[in-house]
Amino acid sequence: MTCGTRNGYDKHRRDGEEACQPCKDAKAKWSRVQRALRGRYCQVPPLLLAQLYLSAPIALQLKFELAVGESVAAALVQRLDQAETPQ
Ligand SMILES: [Zn+2]
Repeated sequence: MTCGTRNGYDKHRRDGEEACQPCKDAKAKWSRVQRALRGRYCQVPPLLLAQLYLSAPIALQLKFELAVGESVAAALVQRLDQAETPQ
């Protein structure tokens, strides 16, 4: 068995023991990916999302605005502007 993998985590559980930390970490990472792939959305930090939005081609920006709403897209950009403005 290899610790630090999801299989390692499952093996711990099958053996009726608590998983070690590397296996818990691997399982948590795997679960995050599964939730992102299964669900409608995945978690992205707002400022990173704003940067991705602004650097996307226009056609993709329009698609994004349709998906989240123009007001959300505008709020993300405003938040990014505030974060980038020197105080
Ligand atoms: Zn382990």
